[in-house]
Amino acid sequence: MQEKYKMYINGNWVESSSNEYMDVIDPSTSNKISSVPKATIEDVDYAIDSAREAFDKGIWPNLPPSERSKILLKVADLIETKLKEYAINETLISGKTIKQSSNYDIPYIVDNIRYMAGAARIFEGLALKEYVPEGSSTIRRDPIGVVAVITPWNYPLMEVVWRAVAAIAVGNTVVVKPASLTPITTLMFAEDLEKAGLPKGVFNVVTGPGSTIGEYLAKHNKVDMIAFTGSTEVGRRLMELGSSTVKKVSLELGGKAPFIVFDDADIEAAVQGAVVGGLVNNGQDCANSTRYYIHEKVYEKFVNGLIDELKKVKIGDPLNAETDMGPLISASHRERVEGYIKKGIEEGGKLLYGGKRPVIEGHERGFYLQPTVIETENHKSAIVQEEIFGPVWTILKFSEYQEVIEKANDVIYGLGASIWTKDVARAMKATRDLRFATVWINEHVPVPSEMPWPSYKQSGSGASLSTYGLEEYTYIKHVYIDISGS
Ligand code: NAD
Repeated sequence: MQEKYKMYINGNWVESSSNEYMDVIDPSTSNKISSVPKATIEDVDYAIDSAREAFDKGIWPNLPPSERSKILLKVADLIETKLKEYAINETLISGKTIKQSSNYDIPYIVDNIRYMAGAARIFEGLALKEYVPEGSSTIRRDPIGVVAVITPWNYPLMEVVWRAVAAIAVGNTVVVKPASLTPITTLMFAEDLEKAGLPKGVFNVVTGPGSTIGEYLAKHNKVDMIAFTGSTEVGRRLMELGSSTVKKVSLELGGKAPFIVFDDADIEAAVQGAVVGGLVNNGQDCANSTRYYIHEKVYEKFVNGLIDELKKVKIGDPLNAETDMGPLISASHRERVEGYIKKGIEEGGKLLYGGKRPVIEGHERGFYLQPTVIETENHKSAIVQEEIFGPVWTILKFSEYQEVIEKANDVIYGLGASIWTKDVARAMKATRDLRFATVWINEHVPVPSEMPWPSYKQSGSGASLSTYGLEEYTYIKHVYIDISGS
């Protein structure tokens, strides 16, 4: 990790025009580990103008897909050769375990890029056809233009890749604003894109606060599209800002995934699934399983099994390969999660496990919190309805299929859900009835690069990954060719 980073604009490494910097903190110690420029409005203008030029002059959009693909495949190779460095830096800035960043996040990112590089070459559509006797019709898919990519802290590099690489793979140019807490790996990525031969102006990074430069980007009249991943609250704001210039707005927002265990499920597998589904990314994943609906006949067995497993979770230094759970992202975020635990208990919940701040030797000032299990019958409680974004397992009992489906759907979110059962018919019926964009059966996490990551309800609009995720960054154009000759 460098002591200080610069921003990447128009193929140049630049400081902020104000010369100001922002600290980057290691959440496992609360020590400063680096700093990045605090971009000004003038810096953002420079980035937008550069992206505009690279797009408007056709430098990038008119390059054959195979040429764009070559550059992306090269960057995937570069990341792979530096996997360890990327994984360590991702862990240092976010507190996620090295186990996760080196075995999952970074290799998955490499696969995501390789998939996008290939898939962007094979857009399919309607065959040329005469829908009226005088003319043939066909469809073009064209890039949208300059895309503002605004990303969260929980998957610092992955979210940039899902948004920005998809956008550039199909010919757009981007201005990326990574989360203020976790900008480092995005800047490393810019360095590797440069090495891979990406033309200047195609990928620009500005680092700074969302409230100033994020807002400025989102309402700028030279920006054609906003691709945002983050909270539902900020997503709503960006829809408002984008409306002044009728921008396309693609949103991946909060979640509150149900995890439904029927009485015929393999309970041991469900317990393992619940540990992973709730713990992944230290409980800070938009699709974390958070609401556990357990059939009354297996309730005790599941809850006891879950607590037994959570007791074995190793909380500690995220850089230690044995650690299962690192710190939360910041002091204020930990307080927010603790506030939910308190509120959940005030609203009738019973604390079954956890809820305390563990003291980790050598990491006493880290933002740690124990995995926490609360049971409740109050479906209107904040811990059931709102996104906590922390390691909190909220447990509820049910007895009937219809009851559990209605409860599972009774939230504003619609990102992910899982059901645990051996009954194929019931599983298939539930995939129809659950108003969530991803439904796992006897699992709760995997998303292959070939499959979409879409959203229902207030979890957003549009999709990442798969060909749907690439189409997201294109306009469709009807091309009509007169064949009558008259
Ligand atoms: P956030 O909404 O607070 O911030 C996300 C980004 O928006 C950051 O870069 C931030 O600086 C910027 N921002 C903040 N206010 C802004 C404004 N007014 N205008 C423009 N930009 C602004 O989210 P977060 O705390 O970084 O991330 C956690 C959230 O992200 C959770 O809600 C989680 O569910 C969601 N998330 C969703 C997905 C998904 O795929 N649906 C994936 C990851 C995270």
